[in-house]
Amino acid sequence: MVAGADGQALVALDRETQFHPFTAIADQQGNGALVMARASGSSITDVSGKTYLDGAAGLWCVNVGYGRAEISDAIHRQSLELPYFHSFNTVANEPSIRLSERLLKLAPDGMRRVFYGQSGSDANDTAVKMLWSYNMLRGKPEKRKIISRSYAYHGVTAAAGSLSGIPMVHQNFGLPLDFARHVSRPDFYRDAPARDCATEESYSAFLAQELEETILTEEADTVAGFIAEPVMGTGGVLPPPAGYFEAIAKVLDKHDVRLVADEVITGFGRVGAWFASELYGIEPDLIVTAKGLTSGYLPLSAVLVGERIWSVFEEASRDGRPFAHGFTYSGHPTCAAAALANLDILEREKLVERVAAMAPSFRSYFAETLLNLRLVGDVRSAGFMMGVELVADRATKAAFPASLKVAGRVALSARRRGVLVRALPNSDVIALSPPFVVTEAELSRLAETLRDAIDEVT
Ligand code: PLP
Repeated sequence: MVAGADGQALVALDRETQFHPFTAIADQQGNGALVMARASGSSITDVSGKTYLDGAAGLWCVNVGYGRAEISDAIHRQSLELPYFHSFNTVANEPSIRLSERLLKLAPDGMRRVFYGQSGSDANDTAVKMLWSYNMLRGKPEKRKIISRSYAYHGVTAAAGSLSGIPMVHQNFGLPLDFARHVSRPDFYRDAPARDCATEESYSAFLAQELEETILTEEADTVAGFIAEPVMGTGGVLPPPAGYFEAIAKVLDKHDVRLVADEVITGFGRVGAWFASELYGIEPDLIVTAKGLTSGYLPLSAVLVGERIWSVFEEASRDGRPFAHGFTYSGHPTCAAAALANLDILEREKLVERVAAMAPSFRSYFAETLLNLRLVGDVRSAGFMMGVELVADRATKAAFPASLKVAGRVALSARRRGVLVRALPNSDVIALSPPFVVTEAELSRLAETLRDAIDEVT
């Protein structure tokens, strides 16, 4: 294992060779990258030998924790037996068939088939193309617009990036493309007072009305879908206000608009249920998953296709017309084997139940430790997803000037103290999403370190 001087050489080599995602080149050139070397459980160690508690599970994904020999053994076995073959033109492999069967059993009622890709972004592009194709096959080619929400994060490919509502994902790319529309995010803490909504229910009714007005303004015959993260992640960790999805579903049904649940973060246990759709009573037409499907050990995404959409494809294919979409790596057997081993661990160790059982203490550690700080405005969570919102003034909820980069500085201070948390873009929200195996002692260390980091910066 590299350490010390070798680590420094790697940082230098990284500066010279790698173009990092979502990274200001000046930061890479200035501070250099944090080069990770190995990990186990909820901890990760860099090339200098410093170990961090990973309060973010990578990017909300290493749900079963690091160092799972069972997943790496499954990958090893499958890659010796059949590392790869495609799934085009009626070809299949056992791991992807077994995984599909298992996903349909775990999924909320009404899901009929599974379509594979490799990332959350490409899976959202697949969902968009499914909606377009579905409407063309139904003789409604004009029904193409897809409504998303401000500050949503659905990925970065051209279609998924258009649906994302985080300004930096659009800037300098000329996005969104013209099929995408955005309505307000459901941010009860920050936005409801300005709408004169005193209760979550009245705020949900306001947001559903806004959605309906948007559909009517655009004309319902041109609107194909509405996409939502059940708990908005990168946009600020926003659990839905009470009654939100019920009110939205009524509007969508009335105007023949299909619902896509982007469960890339929330799927496979993060909110203490296998799917957030189940927890919030959402009945989606498409469910988009990735991240927790393999706990990040290999890249894999899956779009679960519901009855209303599947039945149209099934009918159309009787004329021999294929859904002409798919990837070289769709149904990748080695990635599917990793997912199967990951699901084995989640089931055997009852990790989804563990998240549900520990969620109240996760919340109370943080609420008790942080809410008495002058500059912490809100602590909100769903299962093992938490957002801590920093404000310049608690009474007025005034935000800090963006140039101060307060959340970024808090995350850096926590990192110096040996804890990794994420500062979300375009807000002063710190996100926490620990692996499901995190211990009570690690959770309290996470909360105390974050408190010290906030104290230092503010
Ligand atoms: N959808 C959601 C809700 C996400 O949080 C993300 C990534 O964070 C994506 C989609 C995009 O996934 P990927 O980065 O694998 O393309």
